[in-house]
Amino acid sequence: MNISNKSLFKNKCFVNGEWINSANNSSIDVINPATLKSIGKVPDCGTKETHEAIKKAYESWKNWKEKTALERSILLKKWNDLILANQEDLAQIMTIEQGKPISESRAEIVYGASFVEWFAEECKRVYGDIIPDRFKDKRTVVIKQPIGVVGAITPWNFPSSMITRKCAPALAVGCPVIIKPAPQTPFSALALASLAEKAGFPKGVINILTGDAEKIGKELCSNSLVRKISFTGSTEVGKILLKQSAPTVKKVSLELGGHAPFIAFEDCDIDEAVTGAIQSKFRNTGQTCVCANRIFIHEKIYEIFIKKFTEEVSKIKVGNGLEENVTAGPLIDNLAVEKVKDHIQDAIKKGSKIAIGGKPHDLGGNFYEPTILYDVSIKAKITNEETFGPVAPIYKFSSEKEVIEMANNSEYGLASYFFSRDIGRIWRVSEALEYGIVGVNTGLPSKAEIPFGGMKQSGLGREGSKYGLEDFLEIKYINMAGI
Ligand code: ADP
Repeated sequence: MNISNKSLFKNKCFVNGEWINSANNSSIDVINPATLKSIGKVPDCGTKETHEAIKKAYESWKNWKEKTALERSILLKKWNDLILANQEDLAQIMTIEQGKPISESRAEIVYGASFVEWFAEECKRVYGDIIPDRFKDKRTVVIKQPIGVVGAITPWNFPSSMITRKCAPALAVGCPVIIKPAPQTPFSALALASLAEKAGFPKGVINILTGDAEKIGKELCSNSLVRKISFTGSTEVGKILLKQSAPTVKKVSLELGGHAPFIAFEDCDIDEAVTGAIQSKFRNTGQTCVCANRIFIHEKIYEIFIKKFTEEVSKIKVGNGLEENVTAGPLIDNLAVEKVKDHIQDAIKKGSKIAIGGKPHDLGGNFYEPTILYDVSIKAKITNEETFGPVAPIYKFSSEKEVIEMANNSEYGLASYFFSRDIGRIWRVSEALEYGIVGVNTGLPSKAEIPFGGMKQSGLGREGSKYGLEDFLEIKYINMAGI
């Protein structure tokens, strides 16, 4: 492995300031999705280790919440600086375990760090309120306090930034965190913990447990010392966690699946729309919850858009993400490849045509050709389910009203995109789309200072921004009498 700071590559869990194995020393293998070879092993922890970690995190809470925002901010800034200073090593680790092109990994490290940097500042502005009371002798003050121990469960598609997006606001306002990263990408998480240790966070404030998702998840949800669950992953698992958290009435934030519509209106700049479609569809080989999944093109620009889009897709270079010129890595595993195959076969059976791609890549393994389908039927599986792969299904539309209905016809409501140069239409369509995120003339709307999150079955709560900070705070009012 080409990393200069070898101490970043940890194969133990981090609990209460110590690097530990699982109680019975069992471990799980981590596979490089590009080579299908093992990268190393991490501990296979379960209920017992989670229970212990929660206890320690809870004990750490007392001191952590009593620190001033400025004290916590200083530690977060140190962590941010260390992440940025180790950007290349962290990116190498990410590409080896996740598969994304090294340029995307480098960008993700900077994106991930931006949450740490931003919340290190924002935590100084956790303001309360003074409410004018209706009685002369009374005063009411509202203060905000940290909610308590947070359980964070993260996915493999953004192994670093999904952790910082949850941990940075939690830590910033005074909550300890226990992170369970995805089994496919634990090394990026452990590397972040090693830098947090170096930054000097008190023991117990940041903990990472790898291992049995169901057991760790169940303990995090059912243990009453944990006051909040923050999850990013599938809608299916999100519903399980919500149910498991009900008996202890925990606050739950969920960032779940998406099925993003992407609309190019007849008045758009077609080249800009093509660039946006490439960014939003093919980044991370189509494995993001904000990926464009249904591409609606106005009939007047349908042919020219497909032609230009196909030309751009033909330039995508598929391969091992460690090679500098590669722009699309492998899918995460064979199951993901099978889903892509199934969606394409089903769409073709229902009348779709292929503009480019449509089959496994010559490299074999988890590699698949970037694919464009057009004239896709609304009855195709791909129209109704998230593919999570490098397949762009294109649909023709003729009116604004029709396309808004098509776009909103989904149980998901995370990201949406549209391209138009008409200011009236930009307002109308932005307001009509039932999505938490609307990218207008951009395929990349995410950043630390925006409230990322979805409507409908795409989730609960928001991450990033001042709204994301609120999710880790309790509101308390103090009503004083006899004044
Ligand atoms: P994907 O199918 O993309 O891997 P998942 O929702 O299965 O999405 O995974 C997201 C995260 O949820 C991962 O960290 C995974 O280990 C974890 N996870 C999966 N099943 C459970 C579960 N039953 N309880 C808690 N966490 C789970």
